Amino acid sequence: MLSRILSNQNIFHHYYKLVLEIEGEEVSPRPGQFYSIRCSETTDPLLRRPLSFHRLIRDKDPIQIEMLYRVIGKGTKWLSKRPKSTSLDLMGPFGNGFFIAGASAIQIGTFNFVNPKITLEVIKGIESYLTQNRIEKFVKL
Ligand SMILES: Cc1cc2nc3c(=O)[nH]c(=O)nc-3n(C[C@H](O)[C@H](O)[C@H](O)COP(=O)(O)OP(=O)(O)OC[C@H]3O[C@@H](n4cnc5c(N)ncnc54)[C@H](O)[C@@H]3O)c2cc1C
Repeated sequence: MLSRILSNQNIFHHYYKLVLEIEGEEVSPRPGQFYSIRCSETTDPLLRRPLSFHRLIRDKDPIQIEMLYRVIGKGTKWLSKRPKSTSLDLMGPFGNGFFIAGASAIQIGTFNFVNPKITLEVIKGIESYLTQNRIEKFVKL
């Protein structure tokens, strides 16, 4: 499928944030899944590059996904030069996504400083998940 680039910005050293519109999705992507992206207009590199998404924005129509990636080699270098409003050839979402295993402590990395408030947002997210699923206590997950 072709997906429109809403932005593709350098955020820190070799790290980029890519925002894409995802059209015609019957099934929304789930956390932990990834897309295979064609990173060339030729056959070099031939293979698609897998990238996960770190945020899904469902209240937009079409829905949007945000990806964080590091420029490593040919494919991601090509990707980092793709301007806003152009299209990307995506396949996916692939993978089973994350599963809930239950934990009494979690560690969150904020190395790239994209969202320093993420810890608080994760706590709120867990609380709302518990409420929605009528789970009384965190330890019962
Ligand atoms: C399921 C999945 C999800 C992924 N999600 C993300 C994501 O969300 N964000 C992200 O930044 N990356 C992610 N990756 C890694 C990403 O796919 C690779 O960095 C990318 O394919 C590199 O392509 P390239 O053409 O730029 O580099 P290549 O030309 O393929 O590689 C250049 C050189 O770097 C080495 N190299 C390649 N990948 C890595 C690596 N990851 N670490 C260290 N050395 C490497 C190669 O061996 C080679 O020597 C994911 C990978 C998988 C399998």
